[in-house]
Amino acid sequence: MIQVFAMPCGVLEFDSKLFFPNLAQGELLTIPVPSYLITHPKGKVLFDTGMHCQTIHDPIGRLGEVARVFVPRTQPGQEIVAQLAQLRLTPDDITYVINSHFHFDHAGGNEFFPRSTFLVQQPELEAARDPVLRKKAFFDPKDFDHQLHYRPVSGEYDIFGDGSLVLLPTYGHTPGHQSLRIRVSKGMELVLTGDACYTKTNMDQDLLPAISFDAAEMRHSLGKLRDLRDKHGATIIYGHDPQQWQEMPHAPDPLV
Ligand SMILES: [Zn+2]
Repeated sequence: MIQVFAMPCGVLEFDSKLFFPNLAQGELLTIPVPSYLITHPKGKVLFDTGMHCQTIHDPIGRLGEVARVFVPRTQPGQEIVAQLAQLRLTPDDITYVINSHFHFDHAGGNEFFPRSTFLVQQPELEAARDPVLRKKAFFDPKDFDHQLHYRPVSGEYDIFGDGSLVLLPTYGHTPGHQSLRIRVSKGMELVLTGDACYTKTNMDQDLLPAISFDAAEMRHSLGKLRDLRDKHGATIIYGHDPQQWQEMPHAPDPLV
């Protein structure tokens, strides 16, 4: 049996125009920073590691000037290790960590998982190694450059070989962004979009955010995800949707 837990791993506050460039005037927007735990009979899988715990007390020290644009409002206990502890787990219990991508709010806790295998798309790893691309993609090596087991993945990847957890390449937001399709049971599929789609509004209005590495590719990925929702009946879990987040159960209660 597969279970999914939505873990609150912090909060960010910033100008809403960064998410919705069509707004005439930006207002302050507060978004959730989630990580997801998926329990599968063959192992436990984590989708993203949230922000580094230093962002709770010393955001500028950790993130630099970024923290003046994206202001962390995270409470103690929301960092990933504490969230796992709530479920009576430690990082060593996690077989696979998926990084949707290497931004600070998705890979900030990577360093706490030295025994796990990280599944990351090849173009994301290549960009992370290239000083020019790394800067263009807004990557900070502090998040991912540790002695960790990174396993490159190219395109779609069936993690356990049974179709239940499949990585989907959704490039564009970053060079090798990926999403995760979870077949919870027959006829019930969830898709964790990560930042390939921030909110339902972005998907409904085909609206790209201000931050994208390759806008054309991101639009293509957004279309693929919309098809999964509208043509295949998948339930979409958006990357940072305040309203959807408020309406869904959070750990320690299961999402499904
Ligand atoms: Zn994000």
